[in-house]
Amino acid sequence: MGSITLKQVRKVFGEVEVIPGADLEINDGEFVVFVGPSGCGKSTLLRLIAGLEDVTSGQVLIDGQDMTQAAPVRRKLAMVFQSYALYPHMSVRKNIAFPLKMAGMAADEQARRVAHAAGILNLTDYLDRKPGQLSGGQRQRVAIGRAIVREPVAFLFDEPLSNLDAALRVNMRVEISELHKKLATTMIYVTHDQVEAMTMADKIVVLRAGRVEQVGSPLELYRSPANRFVAGFIGSPN
Ligand code: ADP
Ligand code: MG
Repeated sequence: MGSITLKQVRKVFGEVEVIPGADLEINDGEFVVFVGPSGCGKSTLLRLIAGLEDVTSGQVLIDGQDMTQAAPVRRKLAMVFQSYALYPHMSVRKNIAFPLKMAGMAADEQARRVAHAAGILNLTDYLDRKPGQLSGGQRQRVAIGRAIVREPVAFLFDEPLSNLDAALRVNMRVEISELHKKLATTMIYVTHDQVEAMTMADKIVVLRAGRVEQVGSPLELYRSPANRFVAGFIGSPN
């Protein structure tokens, strides 16, 4: 569970072709980082996978099933945004349970899943607080908790750490990597930060102007960048 395939995925906004035609294979359980300069189409590609944008043409397959026309909830993916989008008037517990409540899940099952996610994220002692009483890192964890309780086949992160200060960002990188090890679920992580890409990824997808320039492990990209753009971006000496 959690493999994602893109076949010639193209996206045009008005007159502008933002993604000319992306082919990509993401394996179950992989930690994949989309990296590239601002405006290169990282968020758009993620939103196309999530179903938050319609593809202009091409196909999105999840676990081998064509989900190109499927509504976001049917795709069983969970997106974590940089703006945490927490409800300030609700407790941490209610924030985490929110998608389950919306789905009409039984209260005891909601409670079981919230307790499980809080345990994984070290939020057990904070469940009755409001988001305003939490640190930035804790708020980010609540947003991740809200994704975990949905038990998605894959997590999609769009620059989740860009609002945090440098020290906290380093901590959260480690926490997200550890979360990936614990859950062993596919994660796609979008960033414009080369260091994040190189330290977190099993597989890096380098994007430039909506095109996939290269796909490979951090070591492969470092040792054998496909072109000068990748070399420059990754900081390889080649
Ligand atoms: P990134 O996340 O890599 O910074 P985006 O995917 O947000 O890049 O944007 C890629 C390009 O698509 C940019 O030129 C942006 O202006 C354009 N774009 C993104 N969303 C829309 C939209 N809803 N309408 C028109 N243009 C858009
Ligand atoms: Mg973006």
